[in-house]
Amino acid sequence: MGVVQRKAMLKSEGFFPHKKNAKGTTIIYSRKHPTAKFVRVVIDSGIDSKTNKVVGKVGIKLCFVNRQKSWREITAQIFTTNTGLVKTIKAQEAAEKFVKTCKHCKAKKFTAKSGNVVCANACWTAWGGKKKSANTTKKSSQKTTAQNIGPRELRDQARQKKSQKVTPKSQRTYPLNKTVQKKAQKKRQKIVAEILPGDLVSIERIELDTFKEDYTGRILGIVMSVTKEGRVNVNWTANTSNLESWDLPFTNHYATDYRHVLRFKVLSRNVEWAEAA
Ligand SMILES: [Zn+2]
Repeated sequence: MGVVQRKAMLKSEGFFPHKKNAKGTTIIYSRKHPTAKFVRVVIDSGIDSKTNKVVGKVGIKLCFVNRQKSWREITAQIFTTNTGLVKTIKAQEAAEKFVKTCKHCKAKKFTAKSGNVVCANACWTAWGGKKKSANTTKKSSQKTTAQNIGPRELRDQARQKKSQKVTPKSQRTYPLNKTVQKKAQKKRQKIVAEILPGDLVSIERIELDTFKEDYTGRILGIVMSVTKEGRVNVNWTANTSNLESWDLPFTNHYATDYRHVLRFKVLSRNVEWAEAA
């Protein structure tokens, strides 16, 4: 079905061809979304750039152009023929308002390869400092409360604190009843590793605490800094894996109730992941 007609339709809808297609040989077209900022309507024309022949249907999707000028797919591509082209463009444009927005930076969210729906700007990577100040405020307000309550409440609090300091359940010798035991097993644990500036790192993937995949040889980075909260800033020097930058780990800790975990693997030293003390 007509290449000339398809190209003419795309042109009349305001689309211009890209010079390149990183993922295939067909000609990609795009233009701005009529209302949404940083959103582009992207069309895979299904026309081969070399032979100038139709090799497939037209694919239409929306992309969000993030702060790094990378295009993040925010709606799934829908395929259509020349007949359905204009209608499908309209449908995709309308789908924009159903795409979730990041409440922190107002960027659109998209589904990363990890399966997580995340901010297209990956704005969480700059959160370290803010979280710290929030914690400080909380602490000081708790202190104020403590000063305002009576001796009885204070004694109760002291008792509670004392009971929190008892021997960890794993080290207890007396028998526990079954429900408590079950709860103790399910309790989430914090797993940490000592990651230091200058460490050469790669990544490993674990699933329910079982080793699944080693990315050594495909992903390599150098640790630039580690914050007090355990946020690890890495200069990723190589990545030939299928993982995108937002999938890569950025903390020296994680919780055991995460089913899939991508964690650092330190190559330059012997570093073990273990339960936090
Ligand atoms: Zn954001």
